Amino acid sequence: MLEAISRRGEAFFGYGEGCVSEKSARLRHLCIFWAATVFVLGASSCERSGRGSRRAEDRPDVLLITLDTTRADHLHCYGYEKSITPRLDELAGKGVLFTQAIAQAAVTPVSHASILTGLNPYSHGLRVMHGVTENRLAEERVTLAEVLKRAGYQTAAFVSAFPVTERFGLHQGFDMFDADFLLAQPDRLISDSGIVNTGKSQRHAGETTTRALTWLEQAESPYFLWLHYFDPHDRQVMPPQEFMADHAVPIGMERDVLRAIYDIEIEYMDQQIGRVFDWLIQAGQAASTIVVVVADHGEGLGDHDWWTHGILYQEQVRVPLIIRAPSISDGWRVDYVVRTIDIMPTVLDLIGLDTGAWPDMEGESLVPLMGAAAKDPGYRAYCDSVNMLTYRPGVTIQEVKDDMLFGLVDWPWKYVHHALRPEESELYDLAKDPRELENVIEKHSDVATRLKKELMALDCVPSDELGGQKGAGQMSPEDLRRLRSLGYLDEGG
Ligand SMILES: [Zn+2]
Repeated sequence: MLEAISRRGEAFFGYGEGCVSEKSARLRHLCIFWAATVFVLGASSCERSGRGSRRAEDRPDVLLITLDTTRADHLHCYGYEKSITPRLDELAGKGVLFTQAIAQAAVTPVSHASILTGLNPYSHGLRVMHGVTENRLAEERVTLAEVLKRAGYQTAAFVSAFPVTERFGLHQGFDMFDADFLLAQPDRLISDSGIVNTGKSQRHAGETTTRALTWLEQAESPYFLWLHYFDPHDRQVMPPQEFMADHAVPIGMERDVLRAIYDIEIEYMDQQIGRVFDWLIQAGQAASTIVVVVADHGEGLGDHDWWTHGILYQEQVRVPLIIRAPSISDGWRVDYVVRTIDIMPTVLDLIGLDTGAWPDMEGESLVPLMGAAAKDPGYRAYCDSVNMLTYRPGVTIQEVKDDMLFGLVDWPWKYVHHALRPEESELYDLAKDPRELENVIEKHSDVATRLKKELMALDCVPSDELGGQKGAGQMSPEDLRRLRSLGYLDEGG
C-alpha cells in the first residue's frame, strides 16, 4: 500500500521535462478514476477492497484541529519557555510530534486547502486570499472530508473565521459546516492603526468549542470533525472577559505587549481545546480517536521585521504538527522534514482505507516515520506566497510586500525565489542558521541554481498574477469588506 503511495509522490516530484502538463492531465485523469472507484465502493454495503482495510463501522473517529497563526516555537512541547499550552503538550506526550513540519503557504485559505486536499497550492489551485487569480477551491478537487464521507463517515466542521468558509470552497464534503460568527463585538472597531474589526467575520474558540461539543453529543461513529481556531490571528479581539480576569496585558514596549497578547490568545485557545479533549476522555473515546493538530502558518512577531504572516521565513511556515492515533506509540518525535500535504494521506492510512479509494495526492503517509525503524524520507517541502499585499504600518514594524515568493526546503537548504525581484532571492542553511539570519545565496550559488530550477519545473508561478489578467476569483464588495474587517487589505482595498 505504501509503495503505491510513494510511487505517486516520486512521479510528481520528479521535476522532469513535461512535468507540468502531465501533472494537470494526470490530476484530471485520477479525479475521474477516483470518482468511479468510490461510486463502485459506495454501491456495496461495506468495503472489502483490500488486505488490511477495515469496514466502515470499525474505523476510528478522526478529529482535525487547525490552529490559525500559531508558531511552533510558542508551544511548550516545541521548547517555548512559557508553559501556555498544557493540553497540547499533553497530546504531544501521547502522540507523535513533528519538529520540522512545513506549511505549504503562509496564507490561511491557501494553506488550509493544502491540508484538506494533500495537494500543493499550484495543484489545488487556490492561490490567493484575494487578487486577480483563483481564491476558491474548485469543486473538482477532492477533500479529506469528501473521501471520509464516501467511506461512511459522518462529517462536520466548526470554523472560527471567514477565510476558511464556503466562500473559499473549504466546506466541500462536510454534512455540517458551522461558520455562524456571532462574536459579540461592535460592528466596527477602528483602531489607532486604522484596522477595522467587525464581529461578523470571526468568533472565539469558546463559541466554536461549545457548538462542536453539542454536535459531538449526537455524533455517530465513525465521524470526522474539523475544528478551526482563530484567536491568535487577531490581536485586537481579545479572549472573553472571564479569561482575561486572570491574564493582565503588560504595559511596556509595543512589541512586548503584542507578543504578550499573542501568548494569552494561544493559552486561551489551548484551554478551549482542552474542553474537547475532556469530552473525549469522559466519553471513553480519547484512546480510540485519531487526533491531528496543525497550524496553517505561524506569525512574524517582529522577526525579519515582520509582525503578521504571509511571507516564507521559518517562523511563518514551520508549524506545529502533532498526531495521536491508537496504533502509534506514545511520545514519539520526528525530526525529518514533513509537510502539511502529508496529513491527508496519513489519516487515510491510519484509518485503513484501501488505496483504491484514495484520490491523487502529492503528500505521503507519515505512518512509516512513526517508529524506531524510520529513516529520513528526504521530502522536499514547497511553500509559496502569491498575494501581492501592502500592509499599513499599524505597529512599530513596517510591512510591505509587493512581490511573490516561492520556496523549497531541501534539508538543510531553503531557497526562496522572489518572482518580481529575483536579485533578492534567498538561500539559508537551516541546520546552521535556523533563524535565517544569513543569506548564503552567493556563497552557495550552485545549490541555489539547482533549487531554482526544480522550483520552476513545478510551474508554480501563476501567469494571471504576472500578466494582470482577470482570473475567476473576483470578490464581491461584501467579501472584501469582511477581509478588511479582519485586517487584510489596505484602505484602498
Ligand atoms: Zn491563517
